[in-house]
Amino acid sequence: MAKRGKRRIEFRKNHQGRVRDGDLTRDYREGRKRKLDEIETAERLSGKGKLTRRRTVKEEPRKEQDGELRSGRVVSVHGHRCKVAVENGEVYECAIRQVLKSLSIDGRSAVVAGDLVRFRATSNVDGMIEHVEPRSGVLCRTSKNQQHIIASNVDQLMIVSSLASPSLKPVLIDRYLLTAFQCDLQPTIVLNKADLVDLAEVQQLVGVYCSMGIEVLITSADTGLGVDLLRERLEGKQTALSGQSGVGKSSLLNAVQPGLGLAVGRISDDNNKGRHTTTATQLIPVEPSGWVFDTPGIRQFKLWDVEASEVAGLMPDFVPYVSHCRYPDCLHLNEDACAVKDAVIDGRIDARRYDAYCHLLETDLLVED
Ligand code: GDP
Ligand code: ZN
Repeated sequence: MAKRGKRRIEFRKNHQGRVRDGDLTRDYREGRKRKLDEIETAERLSGKGKLTRRRTVKEEPRKEQDGELRSGRVVSVHGHRCKVAVENGEVYECAIRQVLKSLSIDGRSAVVAGDLVRFRATSNVDGMIEHVEPRSGVLCRTSKNQQHIIASNVDQLMIVSSLASPSLKPVLIDRYLLTAFQCDLQPTIVLNKADLVDLAEVQQLVGVYCSMGIEVLITSADTGLGVDLLRERLEGKQTALSGQSGVGKSSLLNAVQPGLGLAVGRISDDNNKGRHTTTATQLIPVEPSGWVFDTPGIRQFKLWDVEASEVAGLMPDFVPYVSHCRYPDCLHLNEDACAVKDAVIDGRIDARRYDAYCHLLETDLLVED
């Protein structure tokens, strides 16, 4: 047993590329570790020295200094610097303390948009981030087997679709829903441009989502329909907005908060698969108390990190049936004695949702590339 206030950690240099998954790192990621700013990093090599390649770090609370730290919210990150907004709306340009960078598995995720941090102000406009509060609700993207957090402390995922122009694409909604369930985020569906269609035509679709416990808001940025309700849903939360370009995300935010002045109709490269959007995630304040992530990356979300066999488990309307299939590895496509297909046949699962499932598996997950 380690003595009180001391812990044994793996010995490593500050700039070592790969971080050992030692207790400190793991505890930190899981939010159980004592606050970093409480650690007095006075260290000494233990008697065994290099034999164990471990060191004893004496943790001493530095409570008297806590008062100097200010709390803020990271609104954007660029390289090793980030913008931190404080309660009164002032924004500090902050650097990130080295120990935080060392502790992150991937240097780029040491601090991400949406993080709640404590920092030491070094001037009226500059500061140094000393502590990152434990994260909840992270939106991740995996590429080259590395997980990148693109937004943290996401309270909900709003999936924005347009009913016309561009035309409604339910399969895209279903795809975004998988992201939400995979990341354990509460989804809300927003169907915009209601002024362009006869709403009777979408009732059935709306009914299916409602029966899955997902709220569907019908809006029009043009007429203001549903905008008050949308504003209410954004209040007090950090919301990630997803949806194809042109569906009206910027227009809706401008309608929620006149004066926000987001550029409408900016032709982005979202549909141009040859190019990558380089814009970083930003957190936009929406009055009275909401924050919305502008995350260019997830607009063109693709199921990078879901296995075909996991998809049905991420669809709440399929879940009651999947364990009743004859084969435990059933993909619910061509197998016999498939409880999911039986449920589709007698209408307990919506046929369109099942089609979307097959489509997602065939186009996104079972293709070799
Ligand atoms: P974003 O790419 O999702 O941010 O979409 P924008 O907000 O830039 O809107 C794309 C286009 O759709 C613009 O020309 C808007 O004027 C138009 N638009 C947005 N919302 C509505 C709506 O509710 N009704 C109609 N008729 N047009 C809309
Ligand atoms: Zn099955």
